[in-house]
Amino acid sequence: MQDQRNQGRARLRLDHEQAVVADSVIAEDAAAQDTVFVCASCGAALAGPLKRLPAVPEPPYYEWWEAEEMGPLPATVPSGCYAIETEPYGPPLVVAEVPEPAMPRHGTYFNVHGQPLVSQGPRGNIVINPDDARGLELRHASAACCGATPDGGMNQLCACGTLVATLSSDCCLPYELHLSPGHVRALPFQHPSPDLSA
Ligand SMILES: [Zn+2]
Ligand SMILES: [Zn+2]
Repeated sequence: MQDQRNQGRARLRLDHEQAVVADSVIAEDAAAQDTVFVCASCGAALAGPLKRLPAVPEPPYYEWWEAEEMGPLPATVPSGCYAIETEPYGPPLVVAEVPEPAMPRHGTYFNVHGQPLVSQGPRGNIVINPDDARGLELRHASAACCGATPDGGMNQLCACGTLVATLSSDCCLPYELHLSPGHVRALPFQHPSPDLSA
């Protein structure tokens, strides 16, 4: 009788330990499977290994109109991370039924007739911190003040000359770089395993 109870307790503890092990393995797996986005045309890495966030975060609150210097806002996506934009982004902008943000994290846009506009652009952009991007060159696709706007579509050239992304960096816009899912490839990145022989 006594033995059986002890066995039961031992088994319970074992189950608990296994659960803990399983959790830590999952966490390690997630950490090990970062992604490197490369240009689909030439294969150049466009950023270092990035971790996926479950959704695009809300941009940090920032009173850009109070800023002493014009320039990019704090980035929407933390460095080292990426997130998938599920809403349409960029052109074409079409007349909307009711005023709403023209695209995620943007204000309301109106055409010359005073009608509100909304994006009917592509979904599924890969949103990263512009400071994490490598080797991209800005080619404006729409008029901007001190940075770049996404209103004209892709404005970031890979070194091979292919447009691969859209930068939003003007002083009153969310600071984001949107990689075009049709122009980049996602490669799994395995972190080198720690050297256990040392
Ligand atoms: Zn390229
Ligand atoms: Zn500006």
